[in-house]
Amino acid sequence: MNDILQRVKEIDIRQVARDLGFDVIQTRRMLCPFHVEETPSLVFYPPPQNEFHCFGCGKRGDVINMYADVCQIDFKTALEELANRYIPNYEGYGSKKTRKIDVKSIYTRKPVEEKPFVFQSKFSDIYEDFQKFCLIQPATESARKAAEYLRGRGFDDWTIRHFKLFVIKNYGVANEYLKEKYDTSDLIESGIVNKAGNLVFFKHPIIIPYYQNGRIVYLQGRTIGEPSEDTSKYQFLTGIPRTIFNIDSLKPLRGNAEVYLTEGAFDCMTLVKQGMSAVSLGSAKTFKKEWAKHFKKFKIWIWFDNDSAGQAGTRDLMEELHLNGITVDRKYLPDDVKDINEYYQKYS
Ligand SMILES: [Zn+2]
Repeated sequence: MNDILQRVKEIDIRQVARDLGFDVIQTRRMLCPFHVEETPSLVFYPPPQNEFHCFGCGKRGDVINMYADVCQIDFKTALEELANRYIPNYEGYGSKKTRKIDVKSIYTRKPVEEKPFVFQSKFSDIYEDFQKFCLIQPATESARKAAEYLRGRGFDDWTIRHFKLFVIKNYGVANEYLKEKYDTSDLIESGIVNKAGNLVFFKHPIIIPYYQNGRIVYLQGRTIGEPSEDTSKYQFLTGIPRTIFNIDSLKPLRGNAEVYLTEGAFDCMTLVKQGMSAVSLGSAKTFKKEWAKHFKKFKIWIWFDNDSAGQAGTRDLMEELHLNGITVDRKYLPDDVKDINEYYQKYS
């Protein structure tokens, strides 16, 4: 059985897609059957990888996953059907009939009614007012620890000012301030407070603001040091889509300038401190199709973390940028460091 699984996994995924009735263009792309779109953003990686990845909705998998999800059947049935159809002399127990699917109806499957997200400038008003408030608060023990932590990560005053990082010096006071000044519904909509009406950055007092066209469009919180087990290092806004960190810095750059794409904001800040142009995408797998336009005129370096997510993300993103006609290459980290920030801490 394991042998069959392996052999089925090796059936050219593009052939299976074609046989199902899909139109594979440029030998490796097709309209994604898993979300509604007008231009094809599902990419096939030919054997030996033999996988697909959609840059529109993020869905990915191997040939069996694709077949199962398109036909809306379980993995075992998909495996059996594929073996019957493609493995010569396979003596399975399933029926030998070939499945026909209605590709047209798949593409016109009614999408789940979802209100498209519209970013409102009143969110920026709230974020910026919140930042201003935090900056003028008197220093606290928490603020001192945060400053010490940032220095320990290699960030000097210039970097902190340059990226306009700030610290929630007293959670209770900041929480009260927002509640008094704004309608709870606006605060919830902006993602800065949770459904219970409290500031989401309870354990994440270091705030990294994301700017776009000079305005704050996103806030990311960070714990001071390593978090306790039940907490994650970062806290994000509720229901607000992530944007690219430091994107405004690309505006004044000339064509062909070298730009680094990093995972974390701290990695990006580290490179900028070294005099390089860099943005952060948030993680190795958050890249959105519509972001490619920002990178068209540059020479792009991908410099992700030294782990399996970083490796896979690098491979996918190189493909995607390359298909968009963007010049792209990758940087490697030595084996003994996990990310750019650690690299510069250790080797400079
Ligand atoms: Zn998709």
